[in-house]
Order: sequence, then C-alpha cells, then structure tokens
Amino acid sequence: MDFLDFQSEIKNCRERTLGLEDKSKMAPKSSNAADVNGVLFESDALTPDMALPITPVQRADKQPRQFVWRNITLFAYLHIAAIYGGYLFLFSAKWQTDLFAYILYVISGLGITAGAHRLWAHKSYKAKWPLRLILVIFNTVAFQDSAIDWARDHRMHHKYSETDADPHNATRGFFFSHIGWLLVKKHPEIKEKGKGLDISDLYADPILRFQKKYYLILMPLACFILPTVIPVYCWGETWTNAYFVAAMFRYAFILNVTWLVNSAAHKWGDKPYDKAIKPSENISVSVFALGEGFHNYHHTFPWDYKTAELGNNRLNFTTNFINFFAKIGWAYDLKTVSDDIIKQRVKRTGDGSHHLWGWGDEDHEKSEKDAAIRINPKDD
Ligand SMILES: [Zn+2]
Ligand SMILES: [Zn+2]
Repeated sequence: MDFLDFQSEIKNCRERTLGLEDKSKMAPKSSNAADVNGVLFESDALTPDMALPITPVQRADKQPRQFVWRNITLFAYLHIAAIYGGYLFLFSAKWQTDLFAYILYVISGLGITAGAHRLWAHKSYKAKWPLRLILVIFNTVAFQDSAIDWARDHRMHHKYSETDADPHNATRGFFFSHIGWLLVKKHPEIKEKGKGLDISDLYADPILRFQKKYYLILMPLACFILPTVIPVYCWGETWTNAYFVAAMFRYAFILNVTWLVNSAAHKWGDKPYDKAIKPSENISVSVFALGEGFHNYHHTFPWDYKTAELGNNRLNFTTNFINFFAKIGWAYDLKTVSDDIIKQRVKRTGDGSHHLWGWGDEDHEKSEKDAAIRINPKDD
C-alpha cells in the first residue's frame, strides 16, 4: 500500500468512527469510540497499521485529591521495613535467605508479567490449566491484588491511557503514576468508564475466581507467612532476618519495579513506534521488570505476547519463560505483530529512533539524509 492509499484508508477509518458509516460494524469491541485513548485488543484497531484513527491526548483534571490514610500508613511502614530488610540482606541474612528472596522476586515478578499482564489483562497468549495454576500461585506471592482486579485496572490503563480514567495516569506526574495513585481515592471517571469494560473472560476462569474469592487467606500465606516461616524452619534463619528480608524487602522491591513501568517507562526513553504517547522504550526498567520496559512498543501493540520486537529477548526474561512453556505445549496461540505492520507504524508515527527503520536504513534516501540538520556530525 502506498502512502496516499494509506492516508485515504485512515480518513475512511476516521469517518467510520464518526458515524458516517455503519458504526456497529466498525466499533471496537472493548470501547465506546468517543472516549478511548489507546488500543487494548487487536479488535480495537481501525487503521491498517493497527492504531485508532485519533491522535492520543494527555489529560488530567485539577480536582483535589482525597487521601486514603490506611494505605499511606501501610506503605510508609512497608518502605521503612524494606530499608531495614535491605540492610539485613547485605549484612546479616544467610546466603540461603538472600537466594530465597531473589527467587521469590523472580517468581512473583512472573506472576505479574507472564500472568496478570500478558496472559490475563492482554490475552496475548493462552495457557493450559497447569500453567495458569503456577501463574496464579506466583501472582499471589506478588500481592498486587487478585489477578482479576489487576487485569481490570490494566485494561483501563491501556484503553483510557493517560486520561483520568487511567488508574495511574502518568499525566499527573512521576510520583502519582508510581505510588501516588494507591494513596488517594480513585478518580470517579475510572468507575464510570470501567462499567463499560468487558472482563467476563476473567470471571470465566475458575482458577481466577478461586484466587479472588479466597484472596484474603491465600495472599497473606503466599506473600508474608510462608516467606517468613520457610527460612526459619528450613535453614535455621532468625525470625527477624526472614521477615524483613524475604517478606518486606523482597515485596517492596518487586512492587517498586512494577511501578517503574508505570512511572519511569512512561517518562524516559525513545518512542520509535508512536511519538504521540508517553510510554517509552526504557531498557533499565526492562532489566528489573523481566522485560516489561519496552513500553512504547507495548502500548502500540499491546496484544503481542513479547511486549517487544524480536531481538530484545536477552532482556526479556518473561518472553523466554512463555517460550519455554510453548515448547512443552502448556502455552499456545501466542500472538505477535508482523514486521510489515511494525514497519508501517514506525514510519507513520515513530520518532525516528527505530534501530532498523530509522536513520540510515535501506529505504533512507540520500536526499533525505542530505536535507537533515545534523549537529556535530561524523562522516558515515
Ligand atoms: Zn503503560
Ligand atoms: Zn499492558
């Protein structure tokens, strides 16, 4: 498709969403077109390069915040305990306890990235029940609310990205998108627009229903009690070290790593796929968040199980984890995006930083290169 065809196709799509054509056929399944600010599922996309025919906006109103003092107190306690736990991790705990805390960090991370995020929120692959069971156990260790609630919030985050209906709206700043959103009452728009969100697929899974129903028993066991008891009884660790290192420090660490995806990866990094949105390619976040920092790609194509293009797998532990289970048949129907669509999108909406389709690629004409303003150039 050449550029003019492509432009006219976008124009047609825009007309379709404005109701000039039969809207019921074109309306995205998970959205009411007037309000959405980002694609959530593949079926939402309306342009040939899988976008919405709108320019995304960033919006936050100025209404006063209502503090939730219970959460402020609990998070303050957690972080003070975690700093002490970090000290004990380095200078006091047995190496088995440190290793155990590291393993808990990885498995609870996977419970979020491979489970709540890529499997349940985005349906980017399917999993047989043994893998879903493993992931729900991992997810309970992470204590970031039940997977159903996590996936619901996250669908809002993509669909209404960076507006008041996004639970951690990055337009409100780094602190709000990191932890602040958990310290104040939710914006009324979240509840209002959340009513239109389809989460029936999540409730259809008996494993997820079980986790949600018994969450207040399962979560304390998985996140706090067992991580404290196991080091004491299995390798003779002290109660203090076990509790502050394997429970408090490890829990606060993975929480902050997850929050960095909402804060840092919505602020710093390149935007090779869509320069109109805040989410960015942040490699440092990817390292800690098991591959979840390629966030400009992820918000552009959220249904891709890799949350990144191929070639980034070295830093994408979660993708390797899913690939392993795909090999033994427990993960299947893995969705990804074709090179051709990525290329179209990079050219139309990217910021020019794409390593393959940016400066100096095979389609980059000499006249374009010559016309570019280059500061402090080196001959190439
Ligand atoms: Zn995001
Ligand atoms: Zn996502």
